[in-house]
Amino acid sequence: SASLWQDSPPTSPRTNDSSSIYNKALDLSSIFDGYGKIGNTVTYHALRRFRSTRKPIQKYLFLRDLQLFNPRVYFHLLMTRTEELLPYIYTPTVGEACETYHELPVLTQGLYISLRDRGNIFRKLKAWKQQDVRVAVVTDGERILGLGDLGANGMGISEGKIQLYTAAAGVNPAHCLPICLDVGTNNAALLADPRYKGLRQPRVVGEEYDEFIEEFMAALRDWQPHLLLQFEDFGNNNAFRLLERYQPHACTFNDDIQGTACITLAGILSALRAVGQPLSQQRVLFFGAGEAGTGIGELIAQALVKQGSEAGQQMSITEARQHCWFMDSKGLICAERPDAQAGSLAHHKVPFAHAGVGHLPDLLSAVRTLKPTILIGVSTIHHAFNQQVVEAMCEVNPQPIIFPLSNPTCKSECSFEQAAQWSRGSVLFDSGSPFQPLCINGEECHPAQANNAYVFPAVGHAAVLTRAKTIPNDVFLVAAETLAGMTSLQELRRGFLFPSFSRIREVSVKLMAAVAAHMVASGLASPRASTGTGRRAVRRPCGMCPAGSWSPATTEAGCAMKATA
Ligand code: NAP
Ligand code: MN
Repeated sequence: SASLWQDSPPTSPRTNDSSSIYNKALDLSSIFDGYGKIGNTVTYHALRRFRSTRKPIQKYLFLRDLQLFNPRVYFHLLMTRTEELLPYIYTPTVGEACETYHELPVLTQGLYISLRDRGNIFRKLKAWKQQDVRVAVVTDGERILGLGDLGANGMGISEGKIQLYTAAAGVNPAHCLPICLDVGTNNAALLADPRYKGLRQPRVVGEEYDEFIEEFMAALRDWQPHLLLQFEDFGNNNAFRLLERYQPHACTFNDDIQGTACITLAGILSALRAVGQPLSQQRVLFFGAGEAGTGIGELIAQALVKQGSEAGQQMSITEARQHCWFMDSKGLICAERPDAQAGSLAHHKVPFAHAGVGHLPDLLSAVRTLKPTILIGVSTIHHAFNQQVVEAMCEVNPQPIIFPLSNPTCKSECSFEQAAQWSRGSVLFDSGSPFQPLCINGEECHPAQANNAYVFPAVGHAAVLTRAKTIPNDVFLVAAETLAGMTSLQELRRGFLFPSFSRIREVSVKLMAAVAAHMVASGLASPRASTGTGRRAVRRPCGMCPAGSWSPATTEAGCAMKATA
């Protein structure tokens, strides 16, 4: 079967009585389809202990310990019980873990690079325990999930996200590195806590910050020239700037901007398949104009330009952006607004400050005036999509497309139940946080969830496999189009805008193949370095594990490459 573990592990020189049971537990390919078959094994007991642990944070700690002390069993569980484990490795539990990281009994797996390492970053990387790193996730802890500045505690988010590369896209964990840049924090509670492990100083800003990032990026490039770097949970002031600065030259992307844009565009394209309408006839209203919102708007505009040129109708990017309107905390963003007139509008909002409608102070009047076909919430304002707003959407659309994306659930612009009730079941819905399915007019309706994990591990792994030089936005267009084509019309009509997450590795392989093919075709891939000897690569002990245990092999990587070769 399509096991990720086809390579059998090297047999370890164990001589005690438990060795045969232990080795059976390690023979992952034979137990890929269930622990039941192997009965009394380490894996079975680990899963039982995991299940009998009550509190989410205790489950989180249990899994961290398991990874450290029995990585084979941990990764086996991660790959075979992905859906069951993820909530305790990643959101929502990772949020609590980051908030309390400084007081948790954890052994940090990732690499801290602090302001004190200035001038020395390259040497620090050279001395690190892993020397064949291909994927890194980096945060500076300024905006962790919706929780704000958590400083060095942000390490928890890099450690959580990096697991998805293995769980969703089959990247060997020995090649994965979580990084946290410690540039100080403005979180007064953490600064005052004696257990806080980060630098006790306010965040550095301006030139000092930029020079630090510049040294980090240069050191990383010199250390691992083909590394894929994912930016995660930077404050929105730095996130846009750093993306603009490094996207043209480095193999990097920002998940909060581009990953979110990709999964949301995929949701929109799926919803439009369900209603049988083209993207070119849509008008999108965004409630919220931050990293997520303007990232989505820009990718929609690029999709319009691409679809236009494929259909022989040229559309400029400026024209395409006219399809997207934004509201921020001061109301509708438009050319007539005083801050736009004065040139003080935030850089990322400027392309969407259109003329012609004038200032509108609230969402309801914006919906009534602009008559959007699609409404997207990225504001963190709970209940902003109230009954009047949803009903106003229904007045102008037989099947309104409404995506309240704000996380966690307590920030969501509306619930699935509300949207379904107020639209009498006609809504096409996609949210950031999960909601329960409902029965409407005797039919079961499912809410879709815009989970970035459908996208970033696959795009990132494709970039690693092709040794991509850069990752321009059209890569995310290809990923969105591919993902949107993976659900049947029948599934779409029941509300499934994405394939089930239980099929995530199958989904990732298809995405990887499409993205890698695009990268090769558009000249983004680098040629493979010659190995010289022609011998098979030697497998190395995994640097993440104690006592040099052996890392599991990745074979789906091979599949994606074969599909595109
Ligand atoms: P952000 O960069 O901080 O942007 C938030 C935006 O909301 C800002 O433009 C802000 O306006 C606006 N806003 C705040 N209060 C408002 C109000 N009362 N009325 C209208 N707009 C208001 O945050 P982000 O990274 O874009 O994330 C936004 C939300 O999306 C978060 O809850 C996040 O969890 C969620 N998200 C979900 C996904 C997903 O589902 N896959 C992915 C990414 C993000 P100003 O510009 O005026 O301050
Ligand atoms: Mn994020």
